[in-house]
Order: sequence, then structure tokens, then C-alpha cells
Amino acid sequence: MKLVIKGFIQTSLLDWDGKIVSTLYTPHCNFRCPYCQNAGLIINPQKLETIPFRVIKDYLRRNNKWIDGICLTGGEPCMYKELPEFIQKIRELDIMVKLDTNGGFPDMLAEVINKKLVNYIAMDVKAPLDFLSYSKSTDIKNPLILEKVEDSIRLIMESDIDYEFRTTVVPTLHEEEDILRIAEFIKGAKKYAMQNFSSQGEILDPKFKKVKPYPIEKLNKIQKLVSSYVGECVVRGG
Ligand code: SF4
Repeated sequence: MKLVIKGFIQTSLLDWDGKIVSTLYTPHCNFRCPYCQNAGLIINPQKLETIPFRVIKDYLRRNNKWIDGICLTGGEPCMYKELPEFIQKIRELDIMVKLDTNGGFPDMLAEVINKKLVNYIAMDVKAPLDFLSYSKSTDIKNPLILEKVEDSIRLIMESDIDYEFRTTVVPTLHEEEDILRIAEFIKGAKKYAMQNFSSQGEILDPKFKKVKPYPIEKLNKIQKLVSSYVGECVVRGG
């Protein structure tokens, strides 16, 4: 599979805390989170227009005075063997790179970290690190994927790259206790973000269209408990 870009948001203030970025979306994913808001990108990417790299490059070149960086997201960008080369081409434009990943490809993550290609990594921790919880949140069928996720967490925490772990907190999948178990696993991490679930967008499992997000007060309460495990804990959304 070749790395292509299927979505390009020219300006976003939401995808990298404190930075103005352009956001690029790669198609396909090795997970099937039922609450995924990018179903088209995962299931039917062939229906989406491919954005030529020259369009992205021209835009970034013209605007790199005020665009701090790009956020490379998906889908799962680490699925593609050309990822390091792609990021290198962006870095040549004097633009910083944030990489979003679900942690399923630790070998690629290690390469990107060792070559110092990215400035920031945001890794999803979808559930407590046991197979039952993780498969409910991601529909993975193979327990070995969980080992890869754990390897990715270790790699990131031992690297000198700036990072965050994050969880989309979804009623019916996560209770307070689950978030505390995640926090225990990533104890000592620099930053952890709890993102409130939203049923907006093209949701992968239509049943999740009817799920109401938790009131933000509930996430704020969990945030207080989690703050003692990590350097910084933030709540997003809601
Ligand atoms: S939420 Fe992320 S990891 Fe899950 S299916 Fe969607 S793109 Fe993949």
C-alpha cells in the first residue's frame, strides 16, 4: 500500500496544543474502533480524492511563516513504509511534524524516533491494557497487537521526543476505573489527554451515533485523580 493523503485541512488550531497546523489524513487503519469518526477514511478511502503532494507543499511553502507544523493523522500513518521519507520531505520545508498513532507499529515508531523525524507524538491508548478491554474498544482480534501497543508506549516514554498519550473517553466502553487503570500503566508519562467522545462525523458503528458523551464534569473529576500519575493531564472536548 502506498502512502497517499486523503484529507487536508489547511489550518487547524485543535490538532496540536498551542500550535497552528495543517492536518493531513492518511487512509486505512489496522483498528476498527466502533466510535471512529473517520469511517470513510477507514472503510472506503478509494471514494475520497487523493491530495497531490505538490498541493500540500505549495501551501506549506507559501504559509510557513505562520503555520507552525503539520499534524499527520489518519487512519494510521505508521502503516506505511514510506512514512519516514514522507516526513523528511515535510521537514525540508522547515515545518515541524506531529505524528498521531494508535501504537500498533512500534518498529516504524522506533525508526521515526531514532531518526529524529518528528517533533511530537500523540499516541492513543484506547483502553486498559488487557485484551478484552482493548478488543472492545478497537475490535482487534489478535492479542499480539496489545504487545505492540505496550512496546510503543515504552518506546515513547524512553525517547527524548515530546509526546502525549490520549484516550477518547466513550460511555459504554470506559468507566472511571478504566481510565485510572490506563493512568497506572502510563505512570510517569509527560502528558495524558482525555478526549470527550463526540458522535459527530461519520461514525464507524452507527450504534454509537446514539451514545451521549459524558458530562464534562465527570471528566474533570477523573482528571483530578489522574493528575497524580502523570506530568500533565488535560481534558478536551465537551
Ligand atoms: S479511531 Fe483511530 S485507531 Fe480507531 S479506527 Fe479510527 S483511525 Fe483507526
